[in-house]
Amino acid sequence: MADNSIEKKAGPGGEVQRSGREVAAPQPYQSLIPKRSPLEDALGPAAGFGVTIKNFFSKTVTEQYPREPARVKPRFHGRHQLNRYPDGLEKCIGCELCAWACPADAIYVEAADNTADQQFSPGERYGRVYQINYLRCIFCGLCIEACPTRALTMTNEFELAGPTREGLIYEKQDLLAPMTDGMLAAPHPMVEGTTDTDYYRGEVTAPTPAQVDWVGEHRPDDPSLTGARSRAGAAANQGQETR
Ligand code: SF4
Ligand code: SF4
Repeated sequence: MADNSIEKKAGPGGEVQRSGREVAAPQPYQSLIPKRSPLEDALGPAAGFGVTIKNFFSKTVTEQYPREPARVKPRFHGRHQLNRYPDGLEKCIGCELCAWACPADAIYVEAADNTADQQFSPGERYGRVYQINYLRCIFCGLCIEACPTRALTMTNEFELAGPTREGLIYEKQDLLAPMTDGMLAAPHPMVEGTTDTDYYRGEVTAPTPAQVDWVGEHRPDDPSLTGARSRAGAAANQGQETR
């Protein structure tokens, strides 16, 4: 039978080494520590206090949140927002690309058809149901990258805690951007003679008198009418002057 045992022999320091390989003799660890002079030994503690003293006089970075609002970077990923065009129509077309891109399955979208009397967004479809589940969202931003109309963006708002699970599922009305002065609340027709492409290109900058008249006829008590009337009038005058 073959002898498979490893051949060993004693080294010069008494250590065991494999045949054909040299193994360095162990050194005492004290020999690895750099030598210091007595002066360096005396100044050692002072150097430690030097770090403390230096920070004592530097500017404090303590955040006083929540007594003071927290500062976040401009591109911080916070709560989502569904944006509108300047005439008040919604940018979301219900394509569901954001939901498909979401790795956490946090977005639920149901689209519906726009009609002449229920035109919520330019083009054929709009997001009838739009939900984001903030119990799932990891704020990665993939959804906003996927959105073809820049309907979905993220704000800097991060205070999203709540006492109930249901409360952390945000609905469309929670996510829609607030109406700014001069916008006309949807639904209403698109600007006459335009297509959805004109909207995407930013060529619609305000509601027109015809849109205001349509809303005045169908929803005479709509609170957005007052601001929209004055903005539409100003935009029409500006258009005449530039012609
Ligand atoms: S930020 Fe990320 S996790 Fe949150 S909804 Fe968008 S894609 Fe989903
Ligand atoms: S938010 Fe954008 S990606 Fe999501 S359904 Fe609306 S248009 Fe499509």
